[in-house]
Amino acid sequence: MKIHDGLLLIVAIVILSSLASNEARRLSKRVTCHSTLNTADATCETEFACFTYVMSIRKKQYHGCIDSDLYRLFMCNVTPTSTFVSKCCHEDMCNKNLTLSLPTSDSSPRDDIDNKEKVIYVGYGRTVIIALCISAPVCLITLTIMLYIYLRDRRLSILHKSLIESDPEFVVGKLPESSRLMDANIPQSLKDVARLEQTYSGSGSGLPLLIQRTIARQVILHDCIGKGRYGEVYRGTWRGEDVAVKIFSTRDECSWRRETEMYQTVMLRHEHILGFIAADNKDNGTWTQLWLVTDFHKKGSLCDYLTSVPELSIDGMLDMVISIASGLTHLHMEVHGTRGKPAIAHRDLKSRNILVKNNGTCCIADLGLAVCYDACNDSFDLPSGSRVGTKRYMAPELLDNTEPKTFHEYKKIDIYAMGLVLWEIARRCAFAGHPSEDYQLPYFEKVQADPSIEEMKETVCVEKFRPTISKTWDTNEIMKSMGKIIQECWYESSAARLPALRVKKSLIALKRNDPVDV
Ligand code: ADP
Ligand code: MG
Repeated sequence: MKIHDGLLLIVAIVILSSLASNEARRLSKRVTCHSTLNTADATCETEFACFTYVMSIRKKQYHGCIDSDLYRLFMCNVTPTSTFVSKCCHEDMCNKNLTLSLPTSDSSPRDDIDNKEKVIYVGYGRTVIIALCISAPVCLITLTIMLYIYLRDRRLSILHKSLIESDPEFVVGKLPESSRLMDANIPQSLKDVARLEQTYSGSGSGLPLLIQRTIARQVILHDCIGKGRYGEVYRGTWRGEDVAVKIFSTRDECSWRRETEMYQTVMLRHEHILGFIAADNKDNGTWTQLWLVTDFHKKGSLCDYLTSVPELSIDGMLDMVISIASGLTHLHMEVHGTRGKPAIAHRDLKSRNILVKNNGTCCIADLGLAVCYDACNDSFDLPSGSRVGTKRYMAPELLDNTEPKTFHEYKKIDIYAMGLVLWEIARRCAFAGHPSEDYQLPYFEKVQADPSIEEMKETVCVEKFRPTISKTWDTNEIMKSMGKIIQECWYESSAARLPALRVKKSLIALKRNDPVDV
């Protein structure tokens, strides 16, 4: 919301509340007046005012009720003349003893005028007070909201500025001539993005922020392709190529910041982790949007893909599972040295957070909940905010409310979730005359669509139930081994679960038809 929109809003509120209070006042107080006009008991009732008038042609006083605002304006607001004098009041029977006389040429009508002004003043004064009582708190609330929005937007732009300033690539003067922000250094295509990342930072930790902003502002948005917990995801185009844009509201700034930071972690770029292009905070004229621009995968999420394909071949299945295991291995792996990377745990691995690439392999997306391990201090920074992973995919220790104490335990929570994802994929595989099973989410036979923690706990921890592995898998060596690998991922004891690298190696051995050691 802009400041001038806010001011217009306040003016509208004041006018409306003034009208409303006028109406309220009008309806609230009715008075009984003395009446000389056709009433049996010489009284009448009104919410406006009582009047008395005298006219020179009749020389008689008339009393009665004002029955409209217009009439009040006419009767109560006229300047006394030698032919007509009127007076209004707003108390029960207040006009009964009013005696008016037509002013003679030398007498002053001052007293009558004073009284008339008083009546009008009292009437309108009350309106003003009621209007103020209604509009003041509303204006105060609106002003507070505007101030909050203003300060928040200002904070975001300061934040972005400070990020740019803290990026040594942008301290102009320290930059070698070749890396100044010139058009030649702005990527011309998506292929250029990864190449230039290396040129700028030498470590694959994302492009300089100013370039990211330039790219983000050249993106044209098209259709909405997905909705998650935090953002709406749109297909966009940048220099004629498709990109995906995840738009967070400023309310979810923490998620945007965390995901952006994760993608810009040194050496995160990997074939099986969603390719990051740019992040930007952008004022669309009404509010600030937080953008995350990534590679676009038109086959969408693994969950949508598995639902829509008729079946998978064994090779197709293996390509998928190997790619997921190698994406997770890369995330979990700590690489030492200056061009190293910290270990990262995903914490929300599921088929909706994995995307299917054109070549049928997958990449891991949605790093909004990820945690990075700081090996030097043996610590990890849990994201702020109350977001927890997806209940259906929560490992038994999380459902049991046992907070993981070591980073290693977080990795094992990812492995449990990966086991469930591998099961979702393997069900869709048709082999040796056995048709594929229909697509189902893990625990579909036990819990409802949006299960509660209690339901999941009952199923996973108390009943110790795990998704059913069909007996038909035993009729095929690869499927049989798949079943074993999957079961080794979802053991109750986190220590017994396989590490990601081991899962990856076993799956690669399956693909090569080598003996599998599980
Ligand atoms: P959230 O953090 O809100 O859960 P996600 O990153 O998981 O958002 O994205 C939500 C959905 O949007 C995904 O399940 C997927 O269907 C779609 N989506 C996200 N990123 C892409 C992308 N790069 N290409 C195609 N579809 C995407
Ligand atoms: Mg998601």
